[in-house]
Amino acid sequence: MPAVAAPASAPETRPGLVVALDGPGSSGKSSVGAAAALELGYRFCDTGLLYRAATWLSLHRGVGDTGVEALVALVDDVELAADAEGRLARVLVDGRDVTKEVRGPDVDAAVSAVSRVPELRAALLDRQRRIAAPGRIIMAGRDIGTVVLPDADLKLFLSASVAERARRRAEERRVNPDRAEGRDILAELRRRDELDSSRAVAPLRPADDARVLVTDGNRFEETVELVVDAIRSAEAARSAGTPSAGTTPTARALAGDVRPRPEPIEGHLTPLIRLVAAAARLITRAVTRVTIEGDLRAIPRRGPVILAANHASNADPVVIGAWLTPQLGRRIHWLGKKELFDWPIIGWMGRSGGVHPVDRSTADLEAFRLAQRILEEGHLLMVFPEGTRSSDGALQPAKDGLAMLALRTRAPIVPLAVVDSDLRWPRGQLLPRPGGRITLRIGEPFLLADDGAPARRGRAAKGAATVRLMGRIAALLPPRQRGTYAAHAGEDAARPGSGTRPRGGRRDLEAVR
Ligand code: C5P
Repeated sequence: MPAVAAPASAPETRPGLVVALDGPGSSGKSSVGAAAALELGYRFCDTGLLYRAATWLSLHRGVGDTGVEALVALVDDVELAADAEGRLARVLVDGRDVTKEVRGPDVDAAVSAVSRVPELRAALLDRQRRIAAPGRIIMAGRDIGTVVLPDADLKLFLSASVAERARRRAEERRVNPDRAEGRDILAELRRRDELDSSRAVAPLRPADDARVLVTDGNRFEETVELVVDAIRSAEAARSAGTPSAGTTPTARALAGDVRPRPEPIEGHLTPLIRLVAAAARLITRAVTRVTIEGDLRAIPRRGPVILAANHASNADPVVIGAWLTPQLGRRIHWLGKKELFDWPIIGWMGRSGGVHPVDRSTADLEAFRLAQRILEEGHLLMVFPEGTRSSDGALQPAKDGLAMLALRTRAPIVPLAVVDSDLRWPRGQLLPRPGGRITLRIGEPFLLADDGAPARRGRAAKGAATVRLMGRIAALLPPRQRGTYAAHAGEDAARPGSGTRPRGGRRDLEAVR
């Protein structure tokens, strides 16, 4: 294996981390990882090339995936080579550069079956670890954070819907995504996702301590920036001796971080929460009908996520919690005023259902810190950006806290609209009015990564970001409920380069679970 020189520009003063960058096919790991490495002066290794090269060789030499010994023996003929910038993004077989060949459709079709062979994975494991050992490296793959480098300093998982990834690959290969060839790419990616995620050994999944970056609708440079920022923050946290999202206990210990830290936030969906949700559904159904609209699968099942909804009635948290909890299969975290816990039934539901009490008298800072921690520990946070219920059912001016939180944590936001809950249980009325219907509408996830206006900074940037996110919620509401944000409904989704862009018709969003 050739030694890989660090690029001449590698700054010596920053700590060099070991970064695991995992994700499904065409999620951008290789191209994004290579670009981020270049920017940071890191080495880069695309481990998919090893599996691809073994597959290409097995096809070339007629070694079926049943001949395990013959397959494993192929590994010795495969070598990763550095490109001009020192990144391990080329593959040599018997000294010949076959990088282009191993990315062909024949290898695409066979590679997942070959990668399932445990003996082959074992043969490649030690090699990957040796490459990573000197540090200052981004290593891309499927199982880097979970198996190859479980002690990596930072674990990132790039996620994008299969439709988005198929479109990117079609673009790369210059084929029309809507024609037969484009549809074949989509089917092939789906098949590979399924095989890679369901295999017994080292399946594709984010490590529990990975930070999941949803990249739907992102421009390439935006995703590179996300990755570069995450690595820089982890470097800074390490230098300062503080943990950051996605950094491992090992990294924190290495940084000498021995300060007492709060107990980790409980993320499991307990049987009690499921029970509370079922009881809430039962009670709600006795009063009104509830309809869910939109693509539930678009809500990420792992990693930090913010659900942001309008707030017009006491029925909102009940409907959201009761209907989304079983569907998502993950705990929804809420921030609730402390006094809520004094109420007889609501208090019990809150305590059992993942509501974190917030003391309103000690200002918002504490709530903000708690919300940030919930996201940094990779959980799902439900927020009503308006703060309190609207008195007329229409959107009222929102606080900037959520935009700040989203900009700081880079967590994806899923906009939600609770439609007509104010008609069923208006503010100021003790009990709900029976009959009618409440609709819970789910929007597409998006990232509030930048506000598209580099000149704006600080408060103005936060204000603009708040308007953008509220516009997304407004777009899901009927005109009568859009209130303050009526003029901004759908404005952000239509802006080029912003968050998730619908590309005509209903999108096939499949979050990586
Ligand atoms: O990332 P890329 O699409 O080039 O990977 C090709 C295949 O190699 C994947 O579909 C997967 O089956 C396998 N692979 C793996 N573990 C890795 C990297 C890739 O199983 N660390």
